[in-house]
Amino acid sequence: MARILAVANQKGGVGKTTTSVNLAASLGAAARRVLLVDLDPQGNATMGSGVDKRKLSRTVYHVLLGQATVREALLTGLSCGYHLLPANRELAGAEVELVGLEGRESRLRVALAEVEGEYDYIFLDCPPALNLLTVNGLTAAHSVMIPMQCEYYALEGLSDLVQTIRRVRAHLNPRLEIEGLLRTMFDPRNTLSLQVSAQLVQHFGDKVYRTVIPRNVRLAEAPSFGVPVLNHDRASKGCQAYLALAGELLNRHQASSSEQTRQKA
Ligand code: ADP
Ligand code: MG
Repeated sequence: MARILAVANQKGGVGKTTTSVNLAASLGAAARRVLLVDLDPQGNATMGSGVDKRKLSRTVYHVLLGQATVREALLTGLSCGYHLLPANRELAGAEVELVGLEGRESRLRVALAEVEGEYDYIFLDCPPALNLLTVNGLTAAHSVMIPMQCEYYALEGLSDLVQTIRRVRAHLNPRLEIEGLLRTMFDPRNTLSLQVSAQLVQHFGDKVYRTVIPRNVRLAEAPSFGVPVLNHDRASKGCQAYLALAGELLNRHQASSSEQTRQKA
């Protein structure tokens, strides 16, 4: 069964999409079967995976509204190395249209059940808001990955997200965990970054990934070519960081599943 990770932070521009795309590609390169779900009406993950968002007849919008199955809307055979459930601006309407529908928070979870057995990882690239789309992501997920920039207001914003995660856990998805916090666009020459980073580790301990994503121009360029950085500049620091993050994720998950096996034995 797939492990489903929501990549979420209600702040925009913290690296959610960059992380979703490049982690999906890195795990794809490690021979894992990966699905990326674009949950943002901006469709950045869709474009960044090499798919033209303006030319789609079926997207995650149709899936959420029950007008298409995941399998019908899914894009496969892409050069990015993973499958994509795409999005475009039509998805902005879902927020309003979902309100009247039954099980509005759990429609993505129900829809994904159809394909869960076919992947090792499913990433949900959430929009920059704590809205119904993000709640659908959190309700469908096993865990949340939180990308963040180490700057002054970062920790403050985190408490709203943690509150939302608690609420979703209490009412909609008891299995939801915080998977980890990822430091993105990191600049070690910046004293404030180092301070915020230290506070983060103090507060969240092991939940903070050891891998740090540096600020790297190759990561910012890759979307303009419609490719993950792996297909743009494999040797770049940004690419190496996401490959290392994929390794860290795999190690953590292997460790926790062998722990579970031991407990069952
Ligand atoms: P979000 O999805 O959280 O809004 P994005 O992943 O789209 O954030 O990133 C915001 C902007 O920052 C994009 O232009 C992206 O290319 C750029 N970016 C993200 N991560 C990095 C990085 N590590 N180094 C340099 N630029 C980055
Ligand atoms: Mg984004």
